[in-house]
Amino acid sequence: MPKATIKPQDFATLYEGFTAPVSRFDCGRKCAPLNGGEPVCCSTQNAVPVVHKVEFDLLKTRTDLWSKFKPYDYATKQIVAELTSDCMAIHCKGARHCERDNRTIACRGFPFYPYLTRQKEFVGIGTYWVFEDRCWMMSNLEIVDRAFVEQFIATYEALFVKDHSEFTTYVDFSASARRVYSRWKREIPLLGRQGELLIVEPSTGNIRPGRKKDYPKVAPFSSEKEYREAVKEAGGEVPKEGLRAA
Ligand code: SF4
Ligand code: SF4
Repeated sequence: MPKATIKPQDFATLYEGFTAPVSRFDCGRKCAPLNGGEPVCCSTQNAVPVVHKVEFDLLKTRTDLWSKFKPYDYATKQIVAELTSDCMAIHCKGARHCERDNRTIACRGFPFYPYLTRQKEFVGIGTYWVFEDRCWMMSNLEIVDRAFVEQFIATYEALFVKDHSEFTTYVDFSASARRVYSRWKREIPLLGRQGELLIVEPSTGNIRPGRKKDYPKVAPFSSEKEYREAVKEAGGEVPKEGLRAA
C-alpha cells in the first residue's frame, strides 16, 4: 500500500473547503435535551473523535481546544486499543467552547461517512447507524443541504488521494454497513453526490433512487409523542417547536 503523504497543512486546506453546515437548522437543540443538555456528537460519552495524528499536529498549532483522550472504561479502552498507528483519539473542551474553524473533519461531517459500493465507487454518504436513536439529523435527511454533501464528498476525495488507508477504511466500513443492515433486514439510506436520496438493498448492494416515504424516521424521532416522552424521561426540556425543523 502506498505510504500516506498527508501533512498538517493538507488538513488546513481540507478545513477551508469544508465549512458548510449540515443544514440551516441548529440540530443540537433537538438531541441535547435527550443527552443532559449537550449535543450527542459533542460528548465523548457518546462519540470518541478519532483523528489522524497529523490532523492533531495541525490543531495543536491553532488552538488549545483539543487534547489527547484518556479512556475511562472498558469500551473506550477498546476504542483506543483498536486504533491504527497513524490515528489517535482526542477530545475537545465541550460544546460551549466550540471553535468552528478548529473542528475536526469528523466533527464537520457528523453524522455521515463516505459510502463506497462493492465496486469501490464513492456514490454518496451514509449515516453512523449506531447513533440513529439519539441523532435527530439522521431522521431528517431531507433537510441536509446540497452544499454540505458536495463539500463532504470533495473533502474525502482529496483525503483519499493523500492517504489511501482512509479509502480502504471506508470500503471496509461500507461493507460492514451492508452486513449490519442485511441482518436487520433494512435498506440503507444514502445521500447521493447531489444530495438526492438513494436506497441500497444491502444483500445485493443494488442502489435505487429513494422516494419521499423512504426517508428514515427512527424512534424517538418518528413521532412528536415519542420524542416528548423520551425527552421527559431524560429530564430535558422539549424545544418549543418540538420535533419539527425550525
Ligand atoms: S448531528 Fe445529530 S447528534 Fe450532532 S448535534 Fe445534530 S442532531 Fe445532535
Ligand atoms: S469541536 Fe465543536 S463540533 Fe467538534 S466535538 Fe467539540 S464542540 Fe462538538
